[in-house]
Amino acid sequence: GGSKKGSGALPRWTVKLTHPDRIYWKDAGVTKQGLAEYYSEAWRFIAPHVVHRPLALLRCPGGVGGQCFFQKHAWKGMNGKILTLHDQKDKSGEPIVGIDGFDGLIGLVQGGVLEIHPWQAPFDDLEKPDQIVMDLDPGEGVTWDEIVAAAREVRERMEAEGLACFLKTSGGKGLHVVSPLEPRAGWEAVKGFAKRIADEMSADSPDRFVATVSKAKRKGKILIDYLRNGRGATAVAPYSTRARDGAPVSMPIGWEELGPDIGPATFTVTNAAARLANLSADPWENFRKAAAPIGGPEKPTRRTA
Ligand code: ATP
Ligand code: MN
Ligand code: MN
Repeated sequence: GGSKKGSGALPRWTVKLTHPDRIYWKDAGVTKQGLAEYYSEAWRFIAPHVVHRPLALLRCPGGVGGQCFFQKHAWKGMNGKILTLHDQKDKSGEPIVGIDGFDGLIGLVQGGVLEIHPWQAPFDDLEKPDQIVMDLDPGEGVTWDEIVAAAREVRERMEAEGLACFLKTSGGKGLHVVSPLEPRAGWEAVKGFAKRIADEMSADSPDRFVATVSKAKRKGKILIDYLRNGRGATAVAPYSTRARDGAPVSMPIGWEELGPDIGPATFTVTNAAARLANLSADPWENFRKAAAPIGGPEKPTRRTA
């Protein structure tokens, strides 16, 4: 017990970083070594969200501004601490990848991975998603206040369905609302559930929300992007860095923090460590404990805390 802040010693890696001084974010002055040190600070927070889960990876070996590619499979020269798994349904026949510990994460850093995008299901059972991500994508001209209101509305609707909701900045332009699930329903049911929420929001406020990806319809509106929830679909992990100027990270925040003081890219590799070290309470601490099922036989009921 007690009011323990931080967790004492940071994990160390055994993976060899080649060219540790290579610049990954030029404007923010973040090197490969600096990225590994950031993940060392973030490890105890990010671990539950990236370990034992298929990962899609945005790799930018030359840093932001160089060539980047979205990688869903194992690659030649990949660090040995990165795991592979055969997915029966993957038509490429190539193994998908994951990690089981801190060295795996540093193996990703060594491979030029600047963004980590997990599936919404664990390695253990690729057919049973254990979380839903509602990705709020502002169209041209949408204000921050409107994005904030959208996140609150998603929360209200998901909670009315019995799901707990956790919030993070995307590190890009929007917000992500994430609900932990008991892994009972399959992909079709979970994606169908997410689509229903998006459809209901756009039906009730057609001037504010759209649920379809068509670019033309998005001007001045927020896309409720439910498509992160299909089999093999991904969303950026909490605490993952983004391959964008300023070295932003997708940062979990408390609902009480949501407002004009925080923007989608407020948190960065440069300021995240201080935030994490000084957190009096982790806003996502109870994430897994709050898991609830969707699509059970019984009518959804409101949960109390
Ligand atoms: P923003 O707030 O700017 O929208 P975001 O991370 O939510 O940030 P989106 O464009 O809404 O970005 O989401 C893109 C999602 O699509 C990512 O989460 C990623 O997992 C997935 N994705 C699929 N293919 C790619 C690709 N080639 N490059 C980047 N992301 C991809
Ligand atoms: Mn988005
Ligand atoms: Mn999106």
